[in-house]
Amino acid sequence: MPPNIPAPIRRLEEAVVNRIAAGEIIHRPANALKELIENSLDAGSNSIQIIIKDGGMKLLQIQDNGNGIRRDDLPIVCERFTTSKIRSFDDLSNIATYGFRGEALASVSHIAHVTITTKTADSKCAWRASYSDGKLVSPRPGVSADPKPTAGNNGTQITVSVKTEKLNVFHSPDFYINNSPAIQAEDLFYNVPARRKALKNPSDEYSRILDVVQRYAVHNAGVSFTCKKQGSNLADVHTPTGVTVADVIRQIYGATVAAELLYLEQELPELEIKFKAWISNANYNIKKMVMLLFINHRSVESANFKKTIENIYANLLPKNTHPFIYLSLEISPRSVDVNVHPTKRETIVAAVCGAIQDRLKDANSSRTYLTQT
Ligand code: ADP
Ligand code: MG
Repeated sequence: MPPNIPAPIRRLEEAVVNRIAAGEIIHRPANALKELIENSLDAGSNSIQIIIKDGGMKLLQIQDNGNGIRRDDLPIVCERFTTSKIRSFDDLSNIATYGFRGEALASVSHIAHVTITTKTADSKCAWRASYSDGKLVSPRPGVSADPKPTAGNNGTQITVSVKTEKLNVFHSPDFYINNSPAIQAEDLFYNVPARRKALKNPSDEYSRILDVVQRYAVHNAGVSFTCKKQGSNLADVHTPTGVTVADVIRQIYGATVAAELLYLEQELPELEIKFKAWISNANYNIKKMVMLLFINHRSVESANFKKTIENIYANLLPKNTHPFIYLSLEISPRSVDVNVHPTKRETIVAAVCGAIQDRLKDANSSRTYLTQT
């Protein structure tokens, strides 16, 4: 038998790299929306309005009242590695924004058609520009690709849209690899077949989107969020500006859970962490656990945290019922390094969950005390 000959090593075309990167950030519409929300928050917005069509598979639109984007920056804003948030490597050590890689808009523009309308406070008018594959494109035949002046309020509106007439050209994986430079990929989440398969249906994608909006609304209580379907008068999420975390939880997750919340807050310098948590007490339970976990202000999933917390509540709640948890954990950038030792991670989980357990014990004993007197 002839020996297996390895395939030659090649440099990936840039368009392929861009799609791989897009896949990491943006598996589905809800991931794209999360990036856009984080950009709006980074821009100092206190009002964020979202409109969705077909679960985001056709259209995502987000309007904020933040700082806006300077007109001169519009030509490069959707290119990869363009960011206003860091200048040098040193800035990474004390980063205060969600973004800094300058990749999200680039990724989105490689899988969809993007239109940005934006106004900074010092500009007399708003500017509108359209993008595809990271670059400015003409919005209509016969019109130049340059940003156009337009009326608008301070802030930014970003529209991410799918051109359905292009759907049928996206059929085989080879098509992309072989033709990628030629493709004008404008079909959000559709231009990579693997991603197309992973998507479910519009209503499933819409509930993922609502979940993201609800989480960010709780974590950014005080910022007004609305989210609705295109053409609907009724918002599916609506939170006002200037309210507390408990208010937002009441509004979104209901008065029943809001009435049974315990609060705790701790700083553990030896672990370089601090956290705040709103957790349901033993009077409250639901069929499926609600766990809003933010680590350094980013919404994340952690099977580890979830399991440990479930175990604590297992002793308190009826069988097959679960708690509501909103946990905001801040870890010093030194410790979130990808190389942080796994045991350190375990120690952090144990410390936070230990505090949750103590808080529940406290609440339980004071409850007993109250009923005794
Ligand atoms: P990053 O957030 O990592 O900088 P992005 O690709 O998400 O990268 O955004 C690129 C840049 O576009 C940002 O650094 C910011 O200057 C600008 N930008 C994006 N969205 C907004 C927005 N909603 N308001 C103001 N500026 C924005
Ligand atoms: Mg960003």
